[in-house]
Amino acid sequence: MLPVVAIGHPTLRKKTEEIGPDYPGLKDLIDNMFETMYASKGVGLAAPQVNKSIRLFIVDARPYAEDDLCAKDFVKVFINPKIIQETGEMWVFNEGCLSVPGINEDVSRRSEVELEYMDENFVSHREVFKGIAGRVIQHEYDHLEGVLFVDRLSPLKKTLLKGKVTKISKGEIDVSYRMTFIKK
Ligand code: ZN
Repeated sequence: MLPVVAIGHPTLRKKTEEIGPDYPGLKDLIDNMFETMYASKGVGLAAPQVNKSIRLFIVDARPYAEDDLCAKDFVKVFINPKIIQETGEMWVFNEGCLSVPGINEDVSRRSEVELEYMDENFVSHREVFKGIAGRVIQHEYDHLEGVLFVDRLSPLKKTLLKGKVTKISKGEIDVSYRMTFIKK
């Protein structure tokens, strides 16, 4: 299990680099990321959240399968993903993030995302994802761009959450999984 980096940590804001099949320890990293995600009850985890500035994220949206057929069997590794376009209506969904524990807020995003990416075998794909599958991808993709879901909230909401976010960044929270915080 890897510690999850908390909001406030510089790695969450860094530019991420593309990787190749020769990236050292890639298979182990992916395995450890799945283990970390399951242990912390997340449905997605991006490499910057485990302190790696690379273009990689994983998802397992099966906990949502009852609400949305798109989430059924949706377990995937995304390497060097690139959003081609986001289309469809704006859609509000309640998001949370393992790097921002204890905060869940409605975020509005487009309902469909077209993505080019490589899987764990470095085979290229180009696919359109909708519903919860698309939403998890949009959230994880943001991590690769140094963006957190709280950045997408209204200025008022951000102001209201400021104190809570500061506490999280300092580690003044109860959380059931291992985390890394900025130094006080
Ligand atoms: Zn997140």
